[in-house]
Amino acid sequence: VLEVHGLVKRYGDATVLGGIDLTVAESEVVTLIGASGSGKSTLLRCVDLLEEIDDGRILLDGEDVSDPRRGSRAAAEAQRRMAIVFQAFNLFPHMTARQNVALAPRVVHRLTADEANERADELLHRVGLESFAGAHPDRLSGGQQQRVAIARALAVRPRLLLLDEITSALDPELVGEVLAIVRELARGPVTILMATHEMGFAKQVADRVCFLDGGTILESGPPEQVLGSPREARTQEFLARVI
Ligand code: ATP
Ligand code: MG
Repeated sequence: VLEVHGLVKRYGDATVLGGIDLTVAESEVVTLIGASGSGKSTLLRCVDLLEEIDDGRILLDGEDVSDPRRGSRAAAEAQRRMAIVFQAFNLFPHMTARQNVALAPRVVHRLTADEANERADELLHRVGLESFAGAHPDRLSGGQQQRVAIARALAVRPRLLLLDEITSALDPELVGEVLAIVRELARGPVTILMATHEMGFAKQVADRVCFLDGGTILESGPPEQVLGSPREARTQEFLARVI
């Protein structure tokens, strides 16, 4: 689904991503781990074409979506094949849960209001919030809001779901309910690239773990290997600090 080749991203003089190579296959779940500032969010933002890249290529279903000469319409079209959920809830506060989820299907897929609401209700059911369809975000807990955000991301039926530390702004007791939704999704056909600091979770659901260090992938492999018996000293140090 996704191929990243030699991706370089700089902010001014700082090279934040120093040549990333990464592939994510159909229905694979790949997690990005690494210290704060290692470039996880930047990588996800580059993949979602929210940042201009300085070098390298990003292929979505074999198509080079990173070439700036393709123009903003092509980029917008590619973005519609992906969905990203961030750490802080970014639901529209003036809309109900159902309206939040139904918005993209209406605007992007041009469904009728009834069809979009039906899709929204299905997805809210999937994240266990069917009874909150009519509630506004301020009436929902942080965990519930994040579950609505996941439903909203799925509403566009993305080829690739990008998740950026979606539990790190939550109170500890709310983390589990959000991770449970992702765990359930990971069993299905959805292709996921996610940054997380939940190592136990990464171990359970990831097909592959990539350890980022200073903007490069220092080590990647099955979770048992990278988390259980890391090869690199930097990975060992990092894991010793976080586990
Ligand atoms: P965290 O675990 O804290 O979320 P991260 O791995 O997601 O960290 P990034 O947010 O990708 O790290 O940041 C990587 C580096 O890029 C950091 O040094 C950060 O200061 C820098 N950076 C990120 N965004 C910008 C920006 N818009 N302008 C300048 N520097 C930036
Ligand atoms: Mg980040």
